[in-house]
Amino acid sequence: MIENKHKPDKLTGVKGMNDILPCDVGLWRFLENAIKSILHAYGYRNIRTPILEYTSLFRRSIGEVTDIVTKEMYSFVDSLNGQQLTMRPENTAAVVRAAIEHNLLYDGPKRLWYIGPMFRHERPQRGRYRQFHQVGVEALGFAGPDVDAEIILMCQRLWSDLGLTGIRLELNSLGHKHERAAHRDQLITYLEKYIELLDNDSKHRLYTNPLRVLDTKNPALQDIAANAPKIIDFLGEESLGHFKGVQSLLSANNVSFTINPRLVRGLDYYNMTVFEWVTDRLGAQGSVGGGGRYDPLIKQLGGKPALACGWALGIERILELLREDNPVPSDDGCDVYIVYQGDVAHSRAFVMAEQLRDTGLDVVLHCSTDNTSVSLRSQMRFADVSGAMYAVIIGDDEVRQDEVSIKLLRSDRTITNADRIQQRVPTKCLAEFLTNLIAAKTKKY
Ligand code: ATP
Ligand code: MG
Repeated sequence: MIENKHKPDKLTGVKGMNDILPCDVGLWRFLENAIKSILHAYGYRNIRTPILEYTSLFRRSIGEVTDIVTKEMYSFVDSLNGQQLTMRPENTAAVVRAAIEHNLLYDGPKRLWYIGPMFRHERPQRGRYRQFHQVGVEALGFAGPDVDAEIILMCQRLWSDLGLTGIRLELNSLGHKHERAAHRDQLITYLEKYIELLDNDSKHRLYTNPLRVLDTKNPALQDIAANAPKIIDFLGEESLGHFKGVQSLLSANNVSFTINPRLVRGLDYYNMTVFEWVTDRLGAQGSVGGGGRYDPLIKQLGGKPALACGWALGIERILELLREDNPVPSDDGCDVYIVYQGDVAHSRAFVMAEQLRDTGLDVVLHCSTDNTSVSLRSQMRFADVSGAMYAVIIGDDEVRQDEVSIKLLRSDRTITNADRIQQRVPTKCLAEFLTNLIAAKTKKY
């Protein structure tokens, strides 16, 4: 074999797809825990669907002329069987597909949630990645407007539990299909008057998806979009009643909102209530999350007709806000790091580590990096960077006395000077001693 004298190319991750390193995981877990406790508080149940789905699922749900389907999907042909597959760009379609496939609504409506990676081929920038994460809820089989308000309240509770400010709620109603059709006709007539001024994207959407022209981010088109016919003026009594119902439930629960008549959402399956959480704190990526009703979707995908609504929030964008607002919680290190000197201490430490784990403590036992024994002092440096709360030290003297020394490693505000003193305890009392010490502190967030 010819040896390659050239240095191999440096390996990197795929553009727009991020590694989440151990030092970042503390904040992720903090957010995930906050989210999960709210989802449980409202009785939502977790559902986990695959990353890959047949491409047709997204074409039939999200819509053929949406940005996601026309230019953002990671789609490919399975070389083994020629099937067209897509890495999920969002998860509502898959949850609905799974609910239909497994007949989940057979005994009544369902409140579901998911969390996980989504994939869109976009230009990577702050808050916009090619692999990103969403948490979402889908309330399947409910007519609203109470459920519409419920899912909005869940987000509001999340912002308040996380201490996040500067996130506004925008609300609109897209009404029923026939109401959108009447609005669409007038909207096209209106936009045709300005056809010369429209950008290419908007010209493209004029006859395929004119509602999306209202959503344009092009500053030059803001006036045209602002003065366009508003969908709300086309809503009949029932749609208006539903929309008012959502608003009054939100007001009764002190949720502030503004009505944005141009809010249309980028996916085709929405109807009636739509909403978006927006912030000015993330530059161009102002949308933290959004959702609404998608009553026609279950039927459209072949299920027994049932009404539905949901939302999806972007985890990376929430994390960005959290990082700005709060000191980053450290990754949660172990309770105990055990260091030792000599062979007798080593085997004693090994057994001790297992016994401590039996009692429920999280324990790291020092292991050699190169098969030579290192001093207690150097082992303590490993203990320090491990993030463990306590070091348990077994030196020669401890072996002779059948004792161990315990040293506090982490510094945080809950720690008193008395805690800092290194203590010696008989080996047999170690587990109880440590458990009491750790129970007295708020160990994990
Ligand atoms: P945007 O207008 O920013 O492209 P969107 O309307 O495409 O957002 P949705 O499809 O409604 O977004 O997805 C819900 C949430 O998922 C967004 O509000 C955002 O927080 C997050 N999100 C969407 N696309 C990305 C991405 N490429 N990178 C990171 N987060 C994203
Ligand atoms: Mg987008």
